[in-house]
Amino acid sequence: MPTRLLIVDDSPVMRSFVKRIVMISGFPVSELLEADNGAEALRQLAGKPVDLVLTDINMPVMDGEELIRRMKSDEALCRIPIVIVSTDATHHRVETLLNLGARGYLAKPFPPERLSELLSTLLNYAAL
Ligand SMILES: [Mg+2]
Repeated sequence: MPTRLLIVDDSPVMRSFVKRIVMISGFPVSELLEADNGAEALRQLAGKPVDLVLTDINMPVMDGEELIRRMKSDEALCRIPIVIVSTDATHHRVETLLNLGARGYLAKPFPPERLSELLSTLLNYAAL
């Protein structure tokens, strides 16, 4: 089934990097949406539901932690899997975000295969 992804990161370079990995992973992605902070992500999600959200933690306006809190308390958004993509790899921070309901964590920089593996697991596709 075609998949819609939302990439949330304040760095255009990182968004492009993640996009490229998704594209070369071979997943049947029908749409790749982008947002540069949590508030913009919520605006996009209100209009268009997606199958998975990849989010940075540290962003201006609304950070990734707040985005996860808002999504988890919203009936329409609480079941969308969220994967954190960040350099903020302190054990405590990661644990907090996983406890809030994030489904996975990728520390920047990461090998493309790691993202592919996570997408396979969370979206239920056979590894490609
Ligand atoms: Mg950032």
